[in-house]
Amino acid sequence: MAGDSPLRVLFVTPELAPWVKSGGLGEVSATLPASLRGLGADVRVLVPGYPAIAAAHPEARVVATVADPGGELAPARLLFAQRPGQVPLLIVDCPECFRREGSPYQNERRRDWPDNYLRFGLLSRVAALLAGEASPLAWRPHVLNCHDWPAGLAPAYLAFKRGAKAVSVMTVHNLAFQGIFPPATLPALGLPPQAFHRDGVEYYGSVSFLKAGLVYADQITTVSPGYAREIQTEEYGCGLDGLLRHRHDRLTGILNGIDTAAWDPATDPFLAGPYDFARIGAKAVNKAALQRELGLRPDPETPLLGVVSRLTHQKGIDLLAAIVPRIVTLPAQLAVLGTGEAELERDLTELAGRFAGRVAAAMRFDEALAHRVEAGADIFVMPSRFEPCGLNQMYSLRYGTPPVARATGGLTDTVVDATSGNVAAGTATGFVFGAPEPGALLAALERAVRARRDGKLWTALQRTGMAQDFGWGRSARRYLGLFQALVTGR
Ligand code: ADP
Repeated sequence: MAGDSPLRVLFVTPELAPWVKSGGLGEVSATLPASLRGLGADVRVLVPGYPAIAAAHPEARVVATVADPGGELAPARLLFAQRPGQVPLLIVDCPECFRREGSPYQNERRRDWPDNYLRFGLLSRVAALLAGEASPLAWRPHVLNCHDWPAGLAPAYLAFKRGAKAVSVMTVHNLAFQGIFPPATLPALGLPPQAFHRDGVEYYGSVSFLKAGLVYADQITTVSPGYAREIQTEEYGCGLDGLLRHRHDRLTGILNGIDTAAWDPATDPFLAGPYDFARIGAKAVNKAALQRELGLRPDPETPLLGVVSRLTHQKGIDLLAAIVPRIVTLPAQLAVLGTGEAELERDLTELAGRFAGRVAAAMRFDEALAHRVEAGADIFVMPSRFEPCGLNQMYSLRYGTPPVARATGGLTDTVVDATSGNVAAGTATGFVFGAPEPGALLAALERAVRARRDGKLWTALQRTGMAQDFGWGRSARRYLGLFQALVTGR
């Protein structure tokens, strides 16, 4: 801890489960702060006052007013909500910015909100205010931990502040989302002109929120060691690999943990039948229930492949769609739960119609069904082109549903391929393939389907996967150790 008092951390995020979640970031924003508090750190989460957050915290009280955040940023109130046993929240209350339905980033027609730079500029600005000497709050963080591009400007704002301030840490959950806006937004954001250069917020003539965070933060972290290595390469660097190579001594990969209480097949309230490794036979109950629920043929023998994913190019769902006619002849069934690109949703819906009874496509966001797919499927599929960490493969390992995953990012760090060597060593947990191509995915699926016919091998894969510890314990300690070293180092 810093001195005698606990380390104080302000965790800034645009998503917070269970209220606002488009993917892993929302989940991590709920679980990591709680784990850090469990280790004795005084963590507070700063989040926009979306309707769901406001509705869930009617008791929140105003603790400060930010009348003039600068530039064209809207005035805001800062609310504070604290419940026994929960992580305290600081809520940026600005109805004109955040009181809208839709996702945090897009309207109902899936178009980015045109004023996203002002909305997340405000979030970043308030974060920097709270991390500096002029904060209206008595509570001052030692560490400002900013998550993804919506919080990316905070380290930049903080860098231009005088006086005592927090150490800033930029955490990258996905380098592909960068928050790039026209140069004219610079004065609207209240950033000084000298911030607009190659070693600042400027990115090929535009303003980049994420680049700002990567340049100005004292430290950069990302969500797996594998992704930390990959983003320093041109292939995965999304145009920022040069900067990341330059800052490599300030870049750390820490694997995300999962919520092991919410994702536990032995106690999961969403399942038709709870199970653990000792009662793995009961998994069949969940498969039968899932087949019924999704209109698949009731068939205990045919392997059922499961997918829960954003339906995007990143996730390689097109690779999967391309081989569906081959998958059904393996034979295997396929259940896809997801939302995303309209074309992929259309293709999958069409395939589900064409292969009715063998392929199901649930094109919606459905937390409960996500649990049932993890439990009911025999094999989980994650053909991601890139995957910063990925949570679903960890859920599937825990649910005795060996994953077929592409060798990238966090998937490499969490899935051990069933090579003969790894099987002999007792470390194998799934099936990994290299090339982001339909043929390579199909070959890995064939390997998995073949392995499933070998009862002894399959049980060994399930046992090893289910015994993995993906809880936050180790990773939260790594974050805390890093934060403490940064604070002491300054
Ligand atoms: P990403 O953050 O890139 O989307 P992750 O694997 O890190 O990928 O996290 C995805 C999270 O979102 C998981 O918790 C997953 O279960 C959930 N998820 C994604 N799509 C859906 C969906 N359609 N319904 C329910 N949960 C979903």
